[in-house]
Amino acid sequence: MSDRPSPTIAILGGGTAGWMTACLMARAWPTARITVVESPDIGIVGVGEGSTPQLRQFFRDLGIAEHDWMPACNATYKAGIRFVGWSREPGFDSYIHPFASDIDLHTEPQFHAAAHARRTGHDVPAHPDAFFLNSWLIDHRRAPLAAETFPFDAAYGYHFDAHLVGVYLRDHAIGRGVVHLSRTVSDVVVGEDGNVRHLVIEGDEPIAADVFVDCSGFRSVIAQAALGVPFASFAGNLFNDRAVVMPTPSDPTGTDVHTTATALSAGWAWRIPLTSRIGNGYVFSSRYIDPTTAEAELRAHLGAGDDVAARHLTMKVGRVETSWTANCLAVGLAQGFIEPLEATALHIVQATVEGFIAAWESAGFTPGRRDEFNRIIARRYDGIRDYIVGHYRLNRRADTLYWRDAVAIDELSDSLKSLFTAWFTGRDMASEIAAQDIARYYAPLSWGCLFGGYGTYPDPGRLRAVERRDGGHIARFLAACGANFPDHDAALARLAA
Ligand SMILES: Cc1cc2nc3c(=O)[nH]c(=O)nc-3n(C[C@H](O)[C@H](O)[C@H](O)COP(=O)(O)OP(=O)(O)OC[C@H]3O[C@@H](n4cnc5c(N)ncnc54)[C@H](O)[C@@H]3O)c2cc1C
Repeated sequence: MSDRPSPTIAILGGGTAGWMTACLMARAWPTARITVVESPDIGIVGVGEGSTPQLRQFFRDLGIAEHDWMPACNATYKAGIRFVGWSREPGFDSYIHPFASDIDLHTEPQFHAAAHARRTGHDVPAHPDAFFLNSWLIDHRRAPLAAETFPFDAAYGYHFDAHLVGVYLRDHAIGRGVVHLSRTVSDVVVGEDGNVRHLVIEGDEPIAADVFVDCSGFRSVIAQAALGVPFASFAGNLFNDRAVVMPTPSDPTGTDVHTTATALSAGWAWRIPLTSRIGNGYVFSSRYIDPTTAEAELRAHLGAGDDVAARHLTMKVGRVETSWTANCLAVGLAQGFIEPLEATALHIVQATVEGFIAAWESAGFTPGRRDEFNRIIARRYDGIRDYIVGHYRLNRRADTLYWRDAVAIDELSDSLKSLFTAWFTGRDMASEIAAQDIARYYAPLSWGCLFGGYGTYPDPGRLRAVERRDGGHIARFLAACGANFPDHDAALARLAA
């Protein structure tokens, strides 16, 4: 941290994005005056209950231990995502996209070799689930907590209650001097130079600051509404625009260590296990199904009666062209949104705020690095979008118009087209990903699981028989090392004790 005076900061919005921003900025700039203003009348979106492994680093950086925040937020461990029903290829009705663990270095080359052999016409088993540690943990409902004697760390993220995480982070931020105002901002005053001057609050002092952070959700009160930052829509290749949300009781047989994403008739349903309940929702496209029918389909899928309350949400999919415009940083839903298939939104919040702090400081507390920062954030959105588009383009079911249209999406980036070409022509995927410099969004393991998990291989009848060589299977590797991972529920009970 530099010894220059810290900026004064006003954060508009007290959802997860607002409080994550407040915590990160209060840590980076402990002497800064930071104010979070949130409306008592406009609620938070209240979803967003699954993370990537990046959130582990977030809590570590803030010095918050799992045994402190996890029980307070009804949190569970997450080792990856299981995709169910996206493919009708025999043997590929489900697959896991695991978070990659260190130990996978021992089995990943065998997976890529098997997948390469199969896509070039050899009858080699190449379903990804057999190869990776976290897939094994998910299948066995084990917590991703390696015994101290085991020399590899298992990667994991979390599931949590979005409202409770907001409260937890709010208390943490306030404990570090952040000021919390429960008020509705009625106007944003912008100067002739294009910088935000202050936020107007009816009957109260206006809020002035050096930096304004727009965390006001889909309303994007400062960035899009006041500053008119253009919005690049992703609707051309990601056509889900609605969600219906419905909780169900916990599973009495135990707590999963993964999110499930199950394909339904016009979208997909998430299932997120918390210690207190299961969070469910159906992400769908209103072009293909109306909200009432979608709600009924979700109820039938969950076996939920009419007495279970449902909540409907509208989603605006895409991103602002520049996350940092004049003296305003847009973060969270105010900045953009990609449907939650890979639960990446909070990851982007973290990357945006950390990148902003680094860029602001490195240019001597001026916006000198703004353009470069904006390019990096935009690339991240587009890199994640391509991976999500890949899910739809590769689906192997044709039972509804929705899925037939999804497989025919023709608005593909050059990057995604090149990846498809590499896979289908038997080229090395890792080289293609390295040449494009996109592994920081999704690494070869993730792309291999995506293509391989849907069974995107030649028809079994066209495969040539080869001598079977079994190798690289994670279960055998773990047995050989005597690895021991605890039962997920037992690990959660220990945290809460
Ligand atoms: C269906 C769905 C599922 C999702 N699933 C995931 C997931 O699994 N993982 C993940 O990482 N993300 C997920 N997300 C995204 C995630 O929910 C959001 O990124 C996260 O909750 C952050 O939201 P936010 O803080 O930007 O906005 P919000 O929660 O909407 O908060 C907005 C805040 O702004 C305030 N506000 C607005 N206008 C004013 C005003 N005029 N004056 C004062 N205050 C104002 C509100 O009071 C509120 O406090 C999902 C999103 C959706 C829609």
